[in-house]
Amino acid sequence: MKDSERRKPMTTKPHDTRSVDDAQREEGEPTAVVFDIQRFSVHDGPGIRTTVFFKGCPLHCAWCQNPESISRTPQLMLYPQRCIGCGKCLPACPELDPDNLPEGAFRPETCRNCGLCAKVCPSEARQMAGRKMTVDAICQVALRDKPFYREQGGVTLGGGEPLAQWPVARAVADALRAQGVHVALDTACSVPRAVIEDVPAHIDLVLADLKLVTPDKHRQWTGADNTRILESIRLLSGAMPGRLWISIPLIPGVQDEEELKRMADFLRGLENPPPVRVLEFHRLGESKYEALGLPPPDFSGNAALPKQAATDILATHGLQLMET
Ligand code: SF4
Ligand code: SF4
Repeated sequence: MKDSERRKPMTTKPHDTRSVDDAQREEGEPTAVVFDIQRFSVHDGPGIRTTVFFKGCPLHCAWCQNPESISRTPQLMLYPQRCIGCGKCLPACPELDPDNLPEGAFRPETCRNCGLCAKVCPSEARQMAGRKMTVDAICQVALRDKPFYREQGGVTLGGGEPLAQWPVARAVADALRAQGVHVALDTACSVPRAVIEDVPAHIDLVLADLKLVTPDKHRQWTGADNTRILESIRLLSGAMPGRLWISIPLIPGVQDEEELKRMADFLRGLENPPPVRVLEFHRLGESKYEALGLPPPDFSGNAALPKQAATDILATHGLQLMET
């Protein structure tokens, strides 16, 4: 075969360049973009749970361990070490280089995240993070493990920010609760007040993140103002007594003793002070940054406050600490 013929694209079907919102409007049935559904999770609420990860988040936390969760648009993730050089991705994409395998099978500058190449990759060297799912499709997966949930467990809606896709997340919660499944919501709370006001009627337990209370620091580390977050936590504490947990991600160099005291003061001043979980920073998300072609966050040079010291500060200031 001549070189010019080999290079000719044999695209299996036209690239879908529609945005997620356009596609939803055209296809009618409401869908959410979900990037993972994790079964047998034991850290996302009480008991054994299935966690549904909704894609898209209004915050840009410098330490994010799920970088594929930030954009709501499905994204191509590449794991070159898994490539077996089979060339099956080449016909899917005119942008890939058949004369330079395996390197030529990786992300071209012009990648539009259409996902056609990932569909045919046999080794998961190419994967798409994010797919549109209907309420029924999400519930079908979530209900597979219902016998394991028993009294305590259930389903957690997380992300990303599940409240950024609240109409579908709420419909999922309603459908699962109608079947007797306990539904928790893991949220960063940076959403409009009207959305937060709607939560207590549809969700059994809220796991709300509190990263920083000092406004400048919050802007510095997450790229967003925290006024709405603090207001949301206040509202939920009043509306959901006994049904709100606070999660504090402890990040090296981000919260010092002074900041933790301020956070404790804020939480103790709520109408129903909620129990608090301190979550330690880990580096498990680094390979995902590489797969997306992004530099991973580097907190290695930052002084880390030990978890025990942090929990002691919070407990001394009158908060109820939970085991994690
Ligand atoms: S996801 Fe990117 S590399 Fe893959 S077929 Fe689409 S445009 Fe080509
Ligand atoms: S289909 Fe997957 S394994 Fe085969 S060449 Fe492409 S990236 Fe490598």
